[in-house]
Amino acid sequence: MLLEYTKLILLVILIHASHKRIHNLQLIKVYVNLLGERDTFVWALHSSGTFSVKSMYAKLINNGVRVSQDLWQIKIPTRIKIFLWYLKRGVILTKDNLARRNWNGDKSCCFCHSTETIHHLFFECAYAKFLWRAVHLLFGIAPPLNIDDLFVTWSKMGGVIYNSLLLTAAAALCWTIWLTRNEVVFDKCRPKTFLQVLFRGIHWLRQWARL
Ligand SMILES: [Zn+2]
Repeated sequence: MLLEYTKLILLVILIHASHKRIHNLQLIKVYVNLLGERDTFVWALHSSGTFSVKSMYAKLINNGVRVSQDLWQIKIPTRIKIFLWYLKRGVILTKDNLARRNWNGDKSCCFCHSTETIHHLFFECAYAKFLWRAVHLLFGIAPPLNIDDLFVTWSKMGGVIYNSLLLTAAAALCWTIWLTRNEVVFDKCRPKTFLQVLFRGIHWLRQWARL
């Protein structure tokens, strides 16, 4: 028998994990009133009751979750900033992270059949290496070694003027790799060529330049 709720408010807070392996989702408050009406879901962090990234971000900040100011100040869509934040924390759902959550699927990279990890997908895989090499040619900065190097050192090699540009380029590149990977994994698309992936990254950069 279905329970009828008049108000179900879920405040879901992404908690910064001390380890980098999984998303920790903590349900901190649940208010349930049982009445004879239809179920409704209300996002309690916005007056409209509708989910918004901005309200979630504000809640994260107000709850003391530390985020990189550099990351949040660059002019890219908020959902890409959140993706980068997940990437920086090492918690995006690559296959190795899924396996830690008891997922038993094929763990190989969809591009080259090595084991898919964040480090492999964004730094070691042939697609990633090609894209970082292209950035190297454009900016004269050698490819980052790993995710920490990307955010701590690599994206700060441009000086005051160009740091945000470097981080934006890194965002476009990583987002392009992730979208292309997801298309192959979930939509069963054939992997794009290196140049197609590169042009896609440039496309995102052009889109974000208008922001
Ligand atoms: Zn690969």
